[in-house]
Amino acid sequence: MQPLNLHTSIAYLKGVGPARAELLKSELSIHTLQDLLNFFPNRYIDRTQFYKINQLEGNSSEVQLIGKITNLKTIEQKVGSRLVATFSDGNDMMELVWFKGVKWIKSNIKLNTPYVIFGRVNLFNGVYNMPHPEMDLLDDFNKSLHATMQPVYPSTEMLSKKGFSNRAMISIVEQLLIEINHQLKESLSQTIINQYQLIPRNIAYRNIHFPEQQELLTKAEFRLKFEELFYIQLQLIRKNILRKSKIKGHKFDIVGHYFNEFYQNHLEFDLTNAQKRVIKEIRKDMGSKAQMNRLLQGDVGSGKTIVALLSMLIALDNGFQAALLAPTEILANQHFQTFSELLKPLNVQIKLLTGSVKTKDRKEIHEELENGKLQILIGTHALFEEKVQFNNLGLAIIDEQHRFGVEQRSKMWRKNEIPPHILIMSATPIPRTLAMSIYGDLDMSVIDEMPPGRKDIKTVHRFDKNRLAVFKFIKDQIEKGRQIYIVYPLIQESEVLDYKDLMDGFEGISRAFPLPKYSISVVHGKLKGEEKDLEMQRFIKKETDIMIATTVIEVGVNVPNASVMVIESAERFGLSQLHQLRGRVGRGAEQSYCILMTGNKLSEDAKTRISTMVNTNNGFEIADVDLKLRGPGNLLGKQQSGVLNLKIADIVKDTQVLKLARSVAFETLQKDANLALPENFNILNTYKEISHKTAIWANIS
Ligand code: ADP
Ligand code: MG
Repeated sequence: MQPLNLHTSIAYLKGVGPARAELLKSELSIHTLQDLLNFFPNRYIDRTQFYKINQLEGNSSEVQLIGKITNLKTIEQKVGSRLVATFSDGNDMMELVWFKGVKWIKSNIKLNTPYVIFGRVNLFNGVYNMPHPEMDLLDDFNKSLHATMQPVYPSTEMLSKKGFSNRAMISIVEQLLIEINHQLKESLSQTIINQYQLIPRNIAYRNIHFPEQQELLTKAEFRLKFEELFYIQLQLIRKNILRKSKIKGHKFDIVGHYFNEFYQNHLEFDLTNAQKRVIKEIRKDMGSKAQMNRLLQGDVGSGKTIVALLSMLIALDNGFQAALLAPTEILANQHFQTFSELLKPLNVQIKLLTGSVKTKDRKEIHEELENGKLQILIGTHALFEEKVQFNNLGLAIIDEQHRFGVEQRSKMWRKNEIPPHILIMSATPIPRTLAMSIYGDLDMSVIDEMPPGRKDIKTVHRFDKNRLAVFKFIKDQIEKGRQIYIVYPLIQESEVLDYKDLMDGFEGISRAFPLPKYSISVVHGKLKGEEKDLEMQRFIKKETDIMIATTVIEVGVNVPNASVMVIESAERFGLSQLHQLRGRVGRGAEQSYCILMTGNKLSEDAKTRISTMVNTNNGFEIADVDLKLRGPGNLLGKQQSGVLNLKIADIVKDTQVLKLARSVAFETLQKDANLALPENFNILNTYKEISHKTAIWANIS
């Protein structure tokens, strides 16, 4: 037989066989020996501690004792039989009980021989009993690997039903380690191992499964987490380096008329220092010969739009076209209006392309794009259509990018031989650790400062039963000339239900705020693009006092006079959504308010979300709480969650290890971009193997 290697199917491991192999595959996705090696215990039981029977207390705690079986009897029951053993630790007696496998146990148990027994104890009629104990002969126990800390592996109902116990798992992992120990080659360089005092790889694997002591377990965990994160970061950073060296970009070395004219004569405010810094970073990228791939992060309202605009003007100064992609029509519309308004004095050719643009106009746009007359195009995913061909697209900006899939984004790429520079703007802040993991191959800019003079939005939580007081408050605000948003949740599964919620709400609000004194706009998913736009416009022009909407207004909408955001059924929104919605107010000089309406019954998570909103306005803090509550997979949506299939590290808990891994990966590549130095031999080998197997997710490419 061939010697086993890590890619061998587990069916060939001694003690597994075809039936168990099937089970391991279907229940735990363990296919190869490598999968088994990386199937880690989720906890360990201390098996150095022994109890005496007279020390036992209460029910159902896991304990371990030494003693002998002095007597065995079978008791017939209605169905089957039960085996009861009397177990003595020398001073006291307890019972061991079996309901299954009685025959086998009866014929294998040795009377009056020292055993170590382990399991949960129950107190029944004044006698302790332990059902289905794990048993080892004391002699064997002392020799075995798990004489100290015993691993407990994740299991499933089906596995227990089929009698595939933790015990069975332990023995196949023991077998595995015996067979492949010599194949667990070192994967890191001696330099890194020395510098961070890592234990060797094979010792780490042995101890993660069968820790000799707590200290070694801690070291094993650290080593394996570090390694896992290190290789992810190594791939991401290397991808960034390769892209910069291989993919040519348009070199924008001119900062000319458009930029200067706008900056000097038409910018209505001073940029914040953060905005200035970020624009410098972008200019530097676009001025190099490589393609820019940059993520721009900033809290809601931090002023990302103007950064986008100025970046586009640089493209124009260099004779290129620029495009801005927004996730919704409303947002595209609004960007278009903002940009057209701001750029009017510069006489820039700018157009809007969305699903609602008429065929005739669309044709014209296509033509002007191709012949280069059109300088800036703003739009939704309609920009991705085959027919949309640019003359020379130099910069593509993707706003609120989490709404676009990887697939879609890459389409922008194919439009030109030399790809455009790409700037991705995130809608809400992404926690640092997550950003490192998902966008680790992009360069990152952060606007960490708000425009001056902003007042913090006051956020309160109100129960539905206090609605009247809330209405009174709204009336007072309208009296003062303010405008109000009232938002209803959008449940993706049921547009019908949303619509009903919204319409019921609309009715109630119409009654409380009757015409002609008050006027109301309504925007929801069932309206056509133009209708939505019309309603938005009425609100923007201050023809209406209240805007009732589903979450279509979540991103980007900018009406500075609106100073109150009422969120209905706030318990049904996620944190980042709540924060985005709140960001629609607080854009003018007036004190703004966010009122979170909820029912009386709130889950623990909902309580945390609401209190987080009430307590902080800081998007980065909110993002961290969100990550803790929802976990990375849910935070990112399905498309990208696969990226985070980590085996041992945890993005939320292992922040420090992640930062270390990233900086070590960065340093390594900085010194030796191709991993060609002899000292990086191990790293190169491992890197090749990993990148061959799991082509790292493509972010932009
Ligand atoms: P976001 O980052 O959420 O996209 P916006 O770009 O929409 O934020 O900016 C929010 C508001 O702040 C806009 O009305 C914008 O004109 C204004 N703004 C942006 N930068 C500044 C600044 N440096 N000083 C004053 N106001 C600014
Ligand atoms: Mg925005």
